[in-house]
Amino acid sequence: MKPFALARPKSLEEAHALLSATACPKGGGMDLLDLAKNGVSTPEVMVDLAGVPNLDGLDTQAGAALYVGGRVTLAELIADPEARRLCPALGDAASEAATPQVRNVATVAGNVLQRPRCPYFRDPFFDCLKRGGKTCPAMEGDHSAGAIFGNGKCCAVHPSNLAVVLLAARASITLSVGHDPKEGPKSRTVPVDPAFFVAPEEDPLREARVETGEIVWDFVVPACPASAYVEVDWKQSFDWASASAAVVLEMEGGKVKDARVALGAVAPVPLLSEAAAKALVGRVPDEAAAKAAADAAVKDAKPLRDNGHKVAQLRACVRRAVLKAAERGR
Ligand SMILES: Cc1cc2nc3c(=O)[nH]c(=O)nc-3n(C[C@H](O)[C@H](O)[C@H](O)COP(=O)(O)OP(=O)(O)OC[C@H]3O[C@@H](n4cnc5c(N)ncnc54)[C@H](O)[C@@H]3O)c2cc1C
Ligand code: SF4
Repeated sequence: MKPFALARPKSLEEAHALLSATACPKGGGMDLLDLAKNGVSTPEVMVDLAGVPNLDGLDTQAGAALYVGGRVTLAELIADPEARRLCPALGDAASEAATPQVRNVATVAGNVLQRPRCPYFRDPFFDCLKRGGKTCPAMEGDHSAGAIFGNGKCCAVHPSNLAVVLLAARASITLSVGHDPKEGPKSRTVPVDPAFFVAPEEDPLREARVETGEIVWDFVVPACPASAYVEVDWKQSFDWASASAAVVLEMEGGKVKDARVALGAVAPVPLLSEAAAKALVGRVPDEAAAKAAADAAVKDAKPLRDNGHKVAQLRACVRRAVLKAAERGR
């Protein structure tokens, strides 16, 4: 492992002054240290955000939205009853991630910005587009956990549970972009929509539009009590999802007025399925509607040689998530 320095800024101003192309922000360090140990990422400095004020905290903004500081841990998110009431899908997604020990340390920002779990990406022995290489060894090799959508260039899947829910829930993200000595902190707020994520065709070296030197300040999630996240895993103890779905319903008179269906672990970025949402709008969200949404969600899937099983897994996730969200909307 290449040695690195650990910086512990005590203010946002100090943190911004330290960040650079070779000095990256550190949340809980779960993914960052893993990548450093494998020699995949070799920062000279890790800028630990633990001492920077105002990056933590959960707030319900008078019941209209959920405010989640970038440094909130998955365990804190799960433990907050108001957060679970306002956006139960986010609680589902955090509870399904990792192990209790990991969830005590892992932050929300770090979860969204973690890098793919593709074994070839994580082993510097292999050439890999995502590490600046020229080929994708997973195409010929093991892609059993790989993408069934958007897999033409790189078939790694986006690993974050929370990103799937944030996309379905029309969340926004605020990034601190710098600190002006006279004017104070500068920030930008953007929606967590498909444009926030970066597909390998555009730039294989990153998965989200967060620039060098930016710090995730918070996420704001509009209240979505009729929401659910469901995943299917390789094993039950702990694992990244093999397929997942987040469903957010807006109900009126027992029928679906509006729906958002996001698909996870099936493409290099989380996907919105407009076809699945369309299959729900105007209908009572019963078993037949859930099945129609599930069928629509997988209609355009293009599995590779060894990952056809993920189509059935995704179908099950969407069907179950629709029924769970509908139950919560009653
Ligand atoms: C055994 C195990 C099982 C797991 N299972 C799952 C799972 O099922 N589902 C799932 O979603 N995840 C899973 N994870 C991943 C885990 O949730 C993430 O690694 C963790 O959330 C990363 O958060 P962190 O705070 O440790 O981030 P770090 O490792 O500190 O950082 C990750 C990335 O985010 C950047 N970053 C962190 N904070 C900020 C910030 N505030 N502003 C800007 N950039 C920032 C870092 O620079 C780095 O690029 C698992 C991990 C383990 C070890
Ligand atoms: S699937 Fe993507 S991350 Fe994995 S080896 Fe291919 S290019 Fe690299």
